[in-house]
Amino acid sequence: MEYDVVVKNGTIIDPKRKKSTVANIGILNGKISSITREEIKGNVELDVRGKIVCPGIIDIHAHVEGNLDCAKVLAAMGVTTVYNGNCGMSPENINEFYKKYDSFLINQIEQIGHTTLREQAGVTDRYKSSSDEEIKKMKFILEEAFDLGVSGLSFGLEYVPGSSSKEVLELAKVAAKYGKLVSIHTRSDCYGGLSALKEAIDISRKTGAAVNISHFTYQFGMGMATEALHMIDEALSEGLDISVDSGLYSGFATSIGSAVFDEGCVEKWGCDYSSIIAGTGKYRGQRLTKDMYEELRRDYPDHTGIGMVGEEYEVFEILEKPYVMVCTDAGTLYDNGVPGHPQDAGTYPKFFKTMVREQNRINLIDAISRCTYIPAKRLGLINKGFIGIGADADLLIFDAKIIEDKADYPCFGATDTRPEGIEYVFVNGVMTVKGKEVLDVSAGKTIKDKCNLWNWE
Ligand SMILES: [Zn+2]
Repeated sequence: MEYDVVVKNGTIIDPKRKKSTVANIGILNGKISSITREEIKGNVELDVRGKIVCPGIIDIHAHVEGNLDCAKVLAAMGVTTVYNGNCGMSPENINEFYKKYDSFLINQIEQIGHTTLREQAGVTDRYKSSSDEEIKKMKFILEEAFDLGVSGLSFGLEYVPGSSSKEVLELAKVAAKYGKLVSIHTRSDCYGGLSALKEAIDISRKTGAAVNISHFTYQFGMGMATEALHMIDEALSEGLDISVDSGLYSGFATSIGSAVFDEGCVEKWGCDYSSIIAGTGKYRGQRLTKDMYEELRRDYPDHTGIGMVGEEYEVFEILEKPYVMVCTDAGTLYDNGVPGHPQDAGTYPKFFKTMVREQNRINLIDAISRCTYIPAKRLGLINKGFIGIGADADLLIFDAKIIEDKADYPCFGATDTRPEGIEYVFVNGVMTVKGKEVLDVSAGKTIKDKCNLWNWE
């Protein structure tokens, strides 16, 4: 028997069984088909003695949406599957999306976004709530999308301040009926964020929907993380089906013209305009003045602003909670193939470097689990997130002793520098990354239907 690929002598970490062992893996037709200490033969054989072999990373909060530049940056740090359509924004035509990207660098899963639904129902003013007729239209489009295989519903409530709790609850009820996950970018960050978090928790309580709270540190890592985490702990002990994702950076990125950067944002964050950095466009890497802020808002609303308004220590406080999944929020506007924020290129290597190696706050098996097995379970991906016979051969092979992020904010360095310590990345059994090189292959698929929340073990 000859395998397509044999990965020899690696230290295999399976987050499902929480075990680590040295063995050989045989890959055939995109699946893991052998795990053994015996000699096995393959068309390609790699000796990875001393390196970690774990499932490919599943990024539960991304905005890739078929952007190949973004997919390359993510793959280079070990991401093999992304959950797209977050923060209320999803592709306009989901059917076309599925057709176009069924052969892509990495695997993609789509949600449908509330803001996109509003646009499709004709609600273009973000400060206005939807009428009963418009809500009816949105519900119809949502049901259609779920029937097509869309895996969840996302809200970006901070981007549509006018959205009523009625429209939010009506849509969440549809998701609950279909057993689909509801991802929520809460209505407000900073101190107003705590009542916005209560709104998000109440969506689960009132509709029975499973809720995932998005990029926790970007919403609450401004001095209120302890209180916000306490609210999540209470909700979990009440039995609510709630989860959390969070990233590695204290400064968030989004379009400068969005409601997040509305007049008054600087006062809310207790900073001045110099705490906002241009991530893309003519002022890339520069700290803003009031004049620059006004010019960008007026003439370049799609350019990226980075709000350097979070507390670094809260990034780690949040990630210490065992239920928090690690995410990037990648896909903020790209300038000639370069991301506006280092999260796209540095998140996971930074997680392993800081939380595991430097600060010793979490062990390597748990760290891998938070990036692979836990998000796979949350998304109902029964073939991903573990190392076992029959699992999809999405693999990350890295050196735990040296893995390190090299990307930085645009004011300090390059946002897209590839990390150290990544050896190989496989997507559905196909070598996709070799060292720092992303190969010209496209073994990734669009994943439909499988994300049913009741697919748990
Ligand atoms: Zn968001």
